[in-house]
Amino acid sequence: MGRPLTDYRSLSLWHATVDDDFTPRPSLPGPASYDVAIVGAGLTGLWTAYYLHRADPTLRIVVLEAEVAGFGASGRNGGWCSALFPTSWQKLVAASSEDGARRMLRAMQETVREVGRAAAAEGIDAHFHQGGTVTLASSQVQLERLRGEVASAHARGFTEEDERLLEPDEASAMLAADPVLGGTFTPHCAVIHPSRLVRGLARVVEASGVPLFEHTRVQSIAPGRVETDFGTVRAEIVLRATEGYTAQVAGLRRAVVPVYSLMVATEPLTDEMWETIGLADRPSFTDARHLIIYGQRTADGRLAFGGRGAPYHYGSRIQPSYDAAPRVFHELRTVLREMLPQLRGAEFTHQWGGCLGITRDWSASVGLDRSTGLGWAGGYVGDGVATTNLAGRTLTDLVTGGDSDLVTLPWVGHRSRSWEPEPLRWLGINAGLRTMSFADVEERWTHRPSTVARLMAPLTTGH
Ligand SMILES: Cc1cc2nc3c(=O)[nH]c(=O)nc-3n(C[C@H](O)[C@H](O)[C@H](O)COP(=O)(O)OP(=O)(O)OC[C@H]3O[C@@H](n4cnc5c(N)ncnc54)[C@H](O)[C@@H]3O)c2cc1C
Repeated sequence: MGRPLTDYRSLSLWHATVDDDFTPRPSLPGPASYDVAIVGAGLTGLWTAYYLHRADPTLRIVVLEAEVAGFGASGRNGGWCSALFPTSWQKLVAASSEDGARRMLRAMQETVREVGRAAAAEGIDAHFHQGGTVTLASSQVQLERLRGEVASAHARGFTEEDERLLEPDEASAMLAADPVLGGTFTPHCAVIHPSRLVRGLARVVEASGVPLFEHTRVQSIAPGRVETDFGTVRAEIVLRATEGYTAQVAGLRRAVVPVYSLMVATEPLTDEMWETIGLADRPSFTDARHLIIYGQRTADGRLAFGGRGAPYHYGSRIQPSYDAAPRVFHELRTVLREMLPQLRGAEFTHQWGGCLGITRDWSASVGLDRSTGLGWAGGYVGDGVATTNLAGRTLTDLVTGGDSDLVTLPWVGHRSRSWEPEPLRWLGINAGLRTMSFADVEERWTHRPSTVARLMAPLTTGH
């Protein structure tokens, strides 16, 4: 029986607007032997192949991808290439020290610039533009939360140059939403066109001589070998870069859960409309509600807007039909229209979704077990676009034995415990997702910080 055809262009606005016909590269021709096998051709796998090959061109590296490069979250995300890091400050300090936690966050800031630098150096026009992030407060409670966040950042050694409060008029000038009580601004974020970045990077990696086999699913990973549909690949080092899909690899069912994030996008808006909306320097945008939302003004003048809220599926199942949740798409369009009444009349032309990966303690990590040769990177939640680049450079140093600052960052070698077996996993994660929606409603009604969000924090953020 033939393999069902996937229309890759339909997977996101980004894949639909990239100059690429998505013809799959050849599959693995048969059993083979390499020095390093990388499983997964999203940004994690591709950045790792890219930096590893540059560090040591004699290494025989192979990338194995179940679908096509950029099939997963890397080709579907919101395009925030940001310095946000999913692991909480408290956890980073506990794993290292205040200085270690600061180094981690500074490394993320540097990584945002490195993505722009590397893309430009390789001739990848990913529409990279570092216009920062504006976070709006649409209520007094949200404003207080933002004030607290900026105060904490400054107490931790960051400055006004890293994150600052915005007066209402300054915030409205950046994004004329309704209502705006104030906001914050950080310069540490760029917006990108995700498909241009990941597909461009795949071409660069392939052109450098690293084989990238597509439609090649890895069934299991073990020290020194990976089993694929087309035979065994032997490799001294095996690096797992499967993020939200990790549960599908034998033996890793409870390591990382797939949680869906969904997006919608408008048609290109007119210049007159943009004059009333703002986002002139294309900062990414969000607000301080509990249920995460995120948006960007695309290079071709659309609003691309996403959020969580789609359910987690029992048994960490992943299916193409889960990429669409009509209720969530409807809510996203409604939220955006409420925030920006100027959008009246504008059409929404695209909607899509994908799964990101969450570990049990909401901590991202990267590591290589020298005794087994097995390495990994992931657990980025919704902050993977830049983090994958840091992961790629860090894995490179770990593999080549490079004595760099990167290999001493607090996320290196961290191991998260496994998720609970079902049905506890399903109950816990979906309760957490519902809590965030409920917390926003609670704050709207009570005008006070949500009690339920505070009580449920261990379940919803791992903090
Ligand atoms: C809708 C959405 C919006 C997001 N928005 C943002 C954002 O704005 N900013 C941000 O920083 N992050 C965002 N994220 C998260 C970010 O996209 C991811 O963290 C990041 O792309 C992860 O990259 P990755 O390479 O680790 O995983 P992926 O891109 O998911 O790649 C994993 C690859 O591995 C392949 N694979 C899986 N299993 C196997 C196997 N058994 N054998 C072979 N290949 C396999 C998959 O097909 C896939 O191509 C978003 C995610 C989603 C879904």
